[in-house]
Amino acid sequence: MMQVLQFSGFPEKGVEDEAILQALKPGSSSRNQGGTFMGYPQTTPHAVAIEAYLSYMEYNTNHVGVFTNSNRQLTASQKMESEVIAMLGDLYGLNEADGYITSGGTEGNILGVWIARNYFSAQKNTVALMQSCLTHESIQKAVDLTMISHVEEIALEDCHFRMDTRRLEEAIDNLISHQIYHAIIIATAGYTLTGTSDDIREINEIVIKFNKQYGFQGWIHIDAAIGGMVLPFREQENTRWFECEHVMSMTVDPHKMGYIPYSAGVFMGRKNVLSWIERNNQFSKTHVSNTLIGSRNGAAAAACWAMFQHLGYSGYKGILDDLISKKEYLLGKLLQKHIAEVISNPETNMCCLSFNSFSNCLLPGRLEQKYATRAFSIQYRGSVINCYKLYIMPHISYATLDMLYEDIMEALAESSLKPSKSEVKPQHEKVISPM
Ligand SMILES: *Cc1c(COP(=O)(O)O)cnc(C)c1O
Repeated sequence: MMQVLQFSGFPEKGVEDEAILQALKPGSSSRNQGGTFMGYPQTTPHAVAIEAYLSYMEYNTNHVGVFTNSNRQLTASQKMESEVIAMLGDLYGLNEADGYITSGGTEGNILGVWIARNYFSAQKNTVALMQSCLTHESIQKAVDLTMISHVEEIALEDCHFRMDTRRLEEAIDNLISHQIYHAIIIATAGYTLTGTSDDIREINEIVIKFNKQYGFQGWIHIDAAIGGMVLPFREQENTRWFECEHVMSMTVDPHKMGYIPYSAGVFMGRKNVLSWIERNNQFSKTHVSNTLIGSRNGAAAAACWAMFQHLGYSGYKGILDDLISKKEYLLGKLLQKHIAEVISNPETNMCCLSFNSFSNCLLPGRLEQKYATRAFSIQYRGSVINCYKLYIMPHISYATLDMLYEDIMEALAESSLKPSKSEVKPQHEKVISPM
């Protein structure tokens, strides 16, 4: 009989590795919920990435500083990290990129805001931060940490779920009338809830205009945690973001759409932007510390490097095209029967739907659970509605989409048999609404 490992404080004595290995078996239920997990951009990592990760687990050489601007002799994983940044720079129109592999999108966003705040503070000026109501909450963490007190939420364009650039102009105008000439503007490429993106070129034009007129300075930080590994493979001309001169830094998450094991995010910026947070390293005379976290593994670098080399542009595009075909297949079925309304359907492998054939547009709890998706409330065409986001990731098969469709049809048939109850609006997360 195998010993069952129990938890009761720090173990007094160790147990055989066999018992440990037995206890470690995750079981099928924890692996993307048996293939029906759809609510988040999460999937089983690619086998090549897992292999690369495992091979480099024991080499923790990517510690202090960044390697993109290093003239030191680099170790294999340091060299891979620096090449990963260069490959991504190529994708986003930045020839000379500085950056490093982070613990994820949150770190990259905190870093972007921190660097920009220091850059502006050095000029002894008040700095504002502009975002929209759909901006990821990691920006709120960054604002909290950097103690930026002037935050403006720019309203969305109705139905398009992107920053209304006319409102942005008004907000900057207003800043200037209050003698604030510096702002960090968070532009999102692929909002988590709707998949939509801000118009980065237009935002850049606005910064140029106010700069010429009033000497206003804007630091555009792009949160492409999701879109960074998706949009370049569908609309490459639009995603050479660094061709916009005021785009200074960005975040992308290879652990989401890059099929890399957690944790692997990337922070990228123009040459030397990291110098704004740089400090001397206590235990090294030759290295400076210019990253947010200290000790980093070499495994994430190896996994990203191996994956980019293995799939290449055409490989990533091929997977994405396939995922989008699957999404269109599902949408076709749902729309034909008028089961749902499409709230947003971006050029990505996700969509946002409101199941308006159900009471209050809410799916039964068992379906939410099975497909791991939760309702959220959003302002749409003048009213607040409930909707769901669905991410079609590589573990989702056509059979799973058929199953989802059948489950929905069955639930609809059931709900029409029940006597109709008076509608009760359930509790929700914060309503996402243009102000
Ligand atoms: C997921 C996400 C983040 C945060 O990334 P983590 O890797 O979870 O820290 C930031 N921005 C957007 C748009 C995201 O979707």
